[in-house]
Amino acid sequence: MENNIILTGDRPTGPLHLGHYVGSLSNRVRLQNTGKYIPFVMIADLQALTDNAENPAKIRQNILEVALDYLAAGLEPDKTTMFVQSHITALTELPMYYANLVTMSRLERNPTIKNEIKLRGFERNLPVGFMTYPISQAADITAFRAKYVPVGDDQLPMLEQAREIVSAFNRIYKCDVLVEPEAILPDNSSCTRLVGTDGNAKMSKSLGNCIYLKDDEKTVKQKIMSMYTDPEHININDPGHVDGNAVFAYLDAFSNKRHFEEYLPEYQSLDEMKKHYMRGGLGDMKCKKFLNNVMQEMLRPIRERREEYAKDKGEVLNMLKKGTDHAQEVSLETLALVRRAIGVDYFNDEDFIEEFTK
Ligand code: ATP
Ligand code: MG
Repeated sequence: MENNIILTGDRPTGPLHLGHYVGSLSNRVRLQNTGKYIPFVMIADLQALTDNAENPAKIRQNILEVALDYLAAGLEPDKTTMFVQSHITALTELPMYYANLVTMSRLERNPTIKNEIKLRGFERNLPVGFMTYPISQAADITAFRAKYVPVGDDQLPMLEQAREIVSAFNRIYKCDVLVEPEAILPDNSSCTRLVGTDGNAKMSKSLGNCIYLKDDEKTVKQKIMSMYTDPEHININDPGHVDGNAVFAYLDAFSNKRHFEEYLPEYQSLDEMKKHYMRGGLGDMKCKKFLNNVMQEMLRPIRERREEYAKDKGEVLNMLKKGTDHAQEVSLETLALVRRAIGVDYFNDEDFIEEFTK
């Protein structure tokens, strides 16, 4: 049978933002709705603790926020299993086995980790748990024997690490228990890593440069109006740059032909608009107003669905509990196979029992 299992997750370090949406969430919803996959979506609270150990209240507060964002974005509990990482037994046990298959130098080579260490100013005070989170992430994916992982491109080194662990495990323990996962990246290249509103290379909770899915209309507008554009485009007639200009990066990610017909009919396409900006004569304000129309149209239904679900948070918690119970069941099956493959499943292993009791 063809493997059609999907797994992804998000750290509950804040509500979800547009980067999550275009990088991963919208792909998850699309794949869910084809009906051809078995999707699991995880709230990665253990991973969030790796750089927030002293602030568990932040993680606690954001569990329901992230769950609400999932529902708001269109994930449905009867099609997608949504669950909490810390309650899945296999996800604390598997990393202990996998850690022995990875060298320190391999962990240190991971470019995303290097970047994140720098960003957080950890230097030598790096928590061991943070350094080893790629191993834990390999456990998250393999515990469900997931084949597909819809993510932004910051996650590619993590998937590479997961594949290496899978191939080492299957080779050393002479089995085919673990599945090598592959990334599903967004088709649109400006979505694989959406820039921040400050023009920084990545919109990220840790950088505080986000537009959140739950932001109200006024907040979204304010954030767009103060967005980073082109510092050399001072007067309207100055030639402008579209590369590195956050407004155009967002238009690349979110606008389509119909938006032009509806909100800015003087241009046929984004290409035409860009050319005008580069020639000079097109002001930032006009571009931002257009972007605001595009964003409000996209965010409105998400925000409304969120408000609806937020009326009954008990039900949302219930949904997570059910999802977590189901995820526990599925991953325990993998854990049993893993123990058996390594040879540590002593009390259920008939060969072992016979060998030592005869
Ligand atoms: P933190 O700053 O706490 O790490 P984050 O904003 O990086 O938070 P994560 O929870 O680490 O968000 O990422 C969850 C998923 O969303 C990953 O698949 C990641 O690739 C994707 N993602 C996050 N930010 C972006 C972005 N700016 N562009 C595209 N995808 C993104
Ligand atoms: Mg991150």
